[in-house]
Amino acid sequence: MKISIIVAKAKNNVIGKDNQLIWKLSSDLKFFKQITSGHHIIMGRKTYESVGKPLPNRTSLVITRNQDFTLPEGHHVFHSLQDAIKYCIGKHLDQVFIIGGAEIYNQAMDMADELLVTEVDAAPDGDVYFPEIKKEDWKKTSSEKHKRDEKNEYNFEFVTYKKIRP
Ligand code: NDP
Repeated sequence: MKISIIVAKAKNNVIGKDNQLIWKLSSDLKFFKQITSGHHIIMGRKTYESVGKPLPNRTSLVITRNQDFTLPEGHHVFHSLQDAIKYCIGKHLDQVFIIGGAEIYNQAMDMADELLVTEVDAAPDGDVYFPEIKKEDWKKTSSEKHKRDEKNEYNFEFVTYKKIRP
């Protein structure tokens, strides 16, 4: 099973502020929807609450330490990232997406096979950061640049990294 991290991060690695996204990039939202639709998506409880409900056409797996946390039918609560991954392996999924936030990304970097990063050409103020993408661990395999326009407030680039396996 391929484990893919998907993120939009600024040049200074900022990914959010006050439990929200901090830019308007409608092409990125479209890309996220297209890539993750039909799949299982794993997220931290704070990211789930910032969205407020399960995203349509996807199965949400939410990580929390709260034993009383519940989700609408068809979506699942786990108390560790490892347990969520084990569940996906048990389901014989081909691929799972880890969609944030910072706490979950930090724990997932070692497990992930692929990073799908939208590199946003901005350096905003924020309070949550994506971990460093170390050159010795990750190889850039594709990139696609986009210019800002009326629907995207910054230039951005879709970049794929693959894990370098020893
Ligand atoms: P997270 O979304 O990573 O959620 C953190 C919560 O997950 C914790 O409080 C805890 O929930 C639970 N958790 C984390 N680790 C464990 C564990 N090992 N076992 C059990 N539960 C665990 O929060 P962050 O604050 O790091 O990130 C949220 C921010 O990230 C927001 O600003 C959001 O907008 C941004 N974001 C940005 C993205 C982007 O691509 N730019 C994508 C996704 C989010 P509990 O407290 O309930 O126990």
